[in-house]
Amino acid sequence: MSTLLLVDDRAENLLALEAILEPLGQQVVSVTSGMAALKYLLHNDCALILLDVQMPDLDGFETATLIKQRDKSRHIPIIFLTAISKDATNVFQGYEAGAVDYVMKPFDAHALRAKVAVFVELWEKGKQVEEQAERIRVQDLAEVQRVGEERYRFLAESIPQQVWTALGDGSLDYVNQQVLDYFGTVPEGLLHWTWTNTVHPEDLPAAIERWTQALETEDPLEVAVRLKRASDGVYRWHLSRAVAFRDEAGAVVKWFGTNTDMEDQKRAEERQQFLLEAGAALGASLDYERTLAEVASLSVPRIADWCVIALLEEGHLKQVAVAHQDPEKVQLVHELHERYPADEDASIGLHHVARTAESELMAEVPSDLAGRVARDDLHLELLQLLGLRSYMCVPLVARGRTMGALSFALAESGRNYGPDDLWLAEELARRAAIAIDNAQLYFEAERRAQAGKVLDTVGDGVFLVDREGTVILWNPAAEQITALRQADVLNRRAADVIPGWDAISPLVPVGSGPGTRAETVPLEVGGKERWLSISGVGFDEGTVYAFRDITEMHAVEEMKTDFVATVSHELRTPLAAIYGAAVTLRRDDLKVDESIRIRLLDVVTEESERLAQIVNDLLLASHLDSGRLQVAMRPTDVRELAVAVIDSAETHLPQNIVLKLISPKRLPAVAADPDQLRRVLVNLVDNAIKYSPEGGPVEVKLERSAENVRVSVRDHGLGIPPNEQQLIFEKFYRLDPDMNRGIGGTGLGLYISRELVHRLNGKIWVESANSAGSTFIVEIPVARPAKKPARAKAAQPS
Ligand code: ADP
Repeated sequence: MSTLLLVDDRAENLLALEAILEPLGQQVVSVTSGMAALKYLLHNDCALILLDVQMPDLDGFETATLIKQRDKSRHIPIIFLTAISKDATNVFQGYEAGAVDYVMKPFDAHALRAKVAVFVELWEKGKQVEEQAERIRVQDLAEVQRVGEERYRFLAESIPQQVWTALGDGSLDYVNQQVLDYFGTVPEGLLHWTWTNTVHPEDLPAAIERWTQALETEDPLEVAVRLKRASDGVYRWHLSRAVAFRDEAGAVVKWFGTNTDMEDQKRAEERQQFLLEAGAALGASLDYERTLAEVASLSVPRIADWCVIALLEEGHLKQVAVAHQDPEKVQLVHELHERYPADEDASIGLHHVARTAESELMAEVPSDLAGRVARDDLHLELLQLLGLRSYMCVPLVARGRTMGALSFALAESGRNYGPDDLWLAEELARRAAIAIDNAQLYFEAERRAQAGKVLDTVGDGVFLVDREGTVILWNPAAEQITALRQADVLNRRAADVIPGWDAISPLVPVGSGPGTRAETVPLEVGGKERWLSISGVGFDEGTVYAFRDITEMHAVEEMKTDFVATVSHELRTPLAAIYGAAVTLRRDDLKVDESIRIRLLDVVTEESERLAQIVNDLLLASHLDSGRLQVAMRPTDVRELAVAVIDSAETHLPQNIVLKLISPKRLPAVAADPDQLRRVLVNLVDNAIKYSPEGGPVEVKLERSAENVRVSVRDHGLGIPPNEQQLIFEKFYRLDPDMNRGIGGTGLGLYISRELVHRLNGKIWVESANSAGSTFIVEIPVARPAKKPARAKAAQPS
């Protein structure tokens, strides 16, 4: 039913109209002013307005204009009713105001009713069309929505992420195939699906809290959780996101959610973090065995369930770190290692990797592997206890040198290694190898620095000659021994700077390590010959030579050789004399004169004494050497001793020698052992006579100074060259070892004299101007009973 609005200021007119229109069966609303009409139209619609033109206040035209101005009422047809305005102007004004018709009063009721009926029908048709259009619009919308949802689902199915939707209350109403694939279930009713079963227990509380919070606040949800994959039971990290979708009124009608697999990203982050931490541990100390142990424990459980690190030491692999989640298993690994040491030629494992420097990855360890490698039942049992599931092993290589290997294994965690894990292990090994290499380089540098210090302080001369024969190291001892300064030798050819090197070097034994036998070679230094004991060791860059100065030792050696000759000769001469005398005395065929017999017996006696003297000297020298000689000090009269010595010498004095004693009448007693002091005087007087082959006076002079009594024995014999005046006091040293002058001796007399004088706290030296003879001087401290004797050691001259 349509509504007809009647507007007339006169109630009777309205009544009349109502009566006329009543048969149309429409609802008729009558108002008495333009204002009332406008007010009605504010809230209501109608099919037609019958509007009186002549009205007080707002007339019909004004009212119509206002009606047409409003969007909501513009479309309503208006029929003007007028009694007065019959002229054309009015009619025109009415149409301008939006009239559809103009009806003059008094009007024909029939015609008016017919006219109104047409308008009502028109209006109703229009209304129907409008309604139909609206229906179509709504249908279209639903279609669009359906298509949209389909598209969304298509999208949801085609993207790799897990997609789900939930109703406003959070109950799931859709999941894409990826969700089903991952969780492996086709829930009968998604609404009842307990997704909480799929979240890692550690992440669940946070997940529930965030989801509840999102449902309350309707804010977007974002949470990282580990979700369990049905196919292998492995938890993988996911980022779960959901946003609310609201209707026009703003109420949440749906949640659109996605779960993005973050495992790889998370693992990459973890790997980076692990490498960072391992790197820090490796860089923290030079004790690389300790840092490797730390790296092993860092890698468990993050990249392995257990980890073993082994380093090559002198060609053999040494296990330096074992880490396992479970300390008992560490023990197990040790036990395995000890009981069943790995075969060095094995085709898999640490040894193989250390040998080939190639990584190994066994994503899935074959179940029968333990059975194949086990050596006996216990071995198999231990291997099975380890439960190896996935394994990888990488070499430790730095600067092309393999230093060992790292092996990782997975067991209880149920994961398997893949190329990414191998990459991580190789990266870790690379960093560890660099750290080890650095530490070793550091120690090497340190060792070299220490070696440098040693070279600087060692007493042996050390020098290094490179392959080109250039001296590249010359230590201070070498400088000192050879008197060749480092600055003059370094970086120059050895042959150019070391005198006679070309002749010496072929004699020097060059070995490949310590223990090379040294050779003694002569080297001319500053015009003098030094004897060096030298050996060399060859290495990649050249040869290092070590030498020591054995000139003195060499001289002693030579002296010893000479001594043997001398002593042999010295012993043989009296022996020959004794033997000759004895043989002559024993001859039956020869009648020996009594005088000759006595003479021969004298020879035996004298030569025996001489033999005894030699043997005594040897014994005494050896006692002095070993410090076993005891001296009994007491106040001794030197004059008395000197007289006795001269008297004794007089008995066998050659004819061309004259012995003289020059002495003050009174001399203080000296502190001495008279027997030893006599020995010294006898030796000096005997030498003076012996080494004066041309004869001449031998003078024994006694003097006193403040502290000492001085004895000088002066001859006019052979004399002693200045450079040998010290040496003659050395054991076995003789100016004429080969006895070219025919003067025999052992070279022990002066040595014994010097040692005895030192023990008597005295001094002995010689003064000689070559052929002008020699004067041997002995000074012995005066006896001072109250005072302790001064120290035995005397300096120059001795
Ligand atoms: P020996 O006389 O048995 O050879 P000594 O030790 O007594 O041993 O003397 C060592 C050397 O010193 C002698 O061989 C000799 O060459 C030299 N010598 C010692 N005394 C004299 C001297 N008075 N004049 C010259 N040379 C001497």
